[in-house]
Amino acid sequence: MNISVIGTGYVGLTTGVALAHLGHKVVCADIDEAKVELLNKGIPPIYEPDLEELMAKSRSRLTFTTSYREAILESDVVFIAVGTPANADGSPNLSYLHEAFDNVLKTLAHKATPTLLVNKSTVPVGTADRFMDEIRRRGMGQVVDIASNPEFLRQGRAVYDTLHPERIVAGGSERAARILQSVYKPLLDQEKIPFLHVDLRSAELAKYAANAFLAMKISFINEMANVCDCVGADVLKIAEVIGSDHRIGPAFLNAGIGYGGSCFPKDTRALQYIADTSGYNFKLLSAVIEVNNDQRYMMVQKLRRELGELAGRKIAVLGLTFKPATDDLREAPSIPVIQELLALGAEVWVHDPIAMEKAKELLPAGVHFAKDCEECLQDAEAALLVTEWPEYLRTVPAAAPGLMKRPLLIDGRNAIPENARAGLDYHGIGIPGTS
Ligand code: NAD
Repeated sequence: MNISVIGTGYVGLTTGVALAHLGHKVVCADIDEAKVELLNKGIPPIYEPDLEELMAKSRSRLTFTTSYREAILESDVVFIAVGTPANADGSPNLSYLHEAFDNVLKTLAHKATPTLLVNKSTVPVGTADRFMDEIRRRGMGQVVDIASNPEFLRQGRAVYDTLHPERIVAGGSERAARILQSVYKPLLDQEKIPFLHVDLRSAELAKYAANAFLAMKISFINEMANVCDCVGADVLKIAEVIGSDHRIGPAFLNAGIGYGGSCFPKDTRALQYIADTSGYNFKLLSAVIEVNNDQRYMMVQKLRRELGELAGRKIAVLGLTFKPATDDLREAPSIPVIQELLALGAEVWVHDPIAMEKAKELLPAGVHFAKDCEECLQDAEAALLVTEWPEYLRTVPAAAPGLMKRPLLIDGRNAIPENARAGLDYHGIGIPGTS
C-alpha cells in the first residue's frame, strides 16, 4: 500500500520505517527541515536501537519530505504521529495535531480517491469525532474516513515493539478497521497478535488507561518500598512474591525514583484533566501522580540523611535519560534531582552515555559535565545512580571505591546486584540495611 506518516519523532519514524520494512511504500513528512535533511542522509535524528539498520534496509521503499503534497497525494492511508505535549494545566497541547490535520485536509482537497486518516498521537476522547465533523463540514466525508490507532511502543525498544506489538487497536468504522488490518497484515500473519476493533472513543481512552495503569503499578511499588524502608522488609522480595501471581505480573514492579519520560507524566496528567473536566474526580490517579512527584526527591532525602549539609560537596549524578537505551530527557527524574542538589549548594557532576549533548542544552547553569563515568566519580562524596545504563552496573562497583572520597552510592533504580555492592556504602530504595 501507499502510506504516509506525518511526524518523524519516536512514534512516526519508527512506524514509517517498520511499515516500509513490511513492504509498504512509505513517505514520511515533518515540518522540521533539519530532521528531514538528516533522514534523507540515512541518519535517524533520535537514538533507538536497530532503527538506523532497519531504515537502511528499507530505504528503497522509504522517502522523507517537508512537503505534505509529496507525502499525501499518492497515499491510501495517512498516519498522524505528531507530539501532544502537556500544557501547564495538564491538558494536552493539541496545536501540532490541529496544524497537521488542517494541512492534511487542505492537501486532500486536491485528491479524489478515498483516504483513511489514522491518528497515532495520544489524544483526548472525542478528538477523532471532532475531526470527522470537520471533514464533513468541508464536504469531504465521502472520501476521507478517520481511524484511531493508538501506539503502545516503549522508547528504547521502539523497533522491537512496533514489529512485535502485544495488540493492535483499531478505532473507527468497519471499513477503517479492514484497511488497518491490511496495513498490518504482514505482522498479523506472522504472529498471533490480537487485532482489537473498537469505537473511536474507546480507542482514544484505552491509550490513557494503559499508561495510567502502568504508572499506578510503579507508584504502588514505590510506596511499598517506602514502607519497606520503615519496617525493614525488602521490596525486591515483595515484588518477586506479588509479581509471580499471574493476576499481578512481574512487569513495572521495580521500585525506584519514579516514572518519567514523554508519556507517563503527561498521559496521567491528561487523563486526570479529562476526568476532571468531564465532572469525575479520579482519586486513584491523583494519588499515583502525587506519589510519583514525591518519589523523585527520595534519593536526595537519603543523601542528606547520610551527608547532612550538601553545600560545596561534590555529588556525582549517573544517568540523565528517563531510562536506558534512549536519548530522551523529557520529564526525566534526573532533572528535578539535579535542580534540588543545586538548590542545596552541592557541586553537581553529571554523566550519561548517550545524552550529554542534549543535556548541555537543557540542564541549569552550574552543572559540571564529566567526560566519562570515572571523571564523574573522581573525589565525589556520593554518587546517585539515576538511570540504570548497563555500563554503570559494571563500572560503578569496580571504580567507585578507588575513585570516590567516600563510596556512598544511592541507587535510585535498585540496579546494582547484591554481589557487586561489597566495596560500596550502598543505599537502595526499600532494601533492608541500606536505607
Ligand atoms: P516527538 O516529539 O518525538 O515527534 C513529533 C514529531 O512531529 C516531531 O518530529 C515534529 O517536528 C513533528 N511535527 C510537529 N508538528 C508537525 C506538523 N504539523 N507536521 C508534520 N510534523 C510535525 O513525539 P513522539 O514521542 O513520537 O510522540 C508522538 C505521539 O505519540 C504523542 O502523542 C505521544 O504521546 C504518542 N506516543 C509516544 C510514545 C513514545 O514512547 N514516545 C509512545 C506511544 C505514544
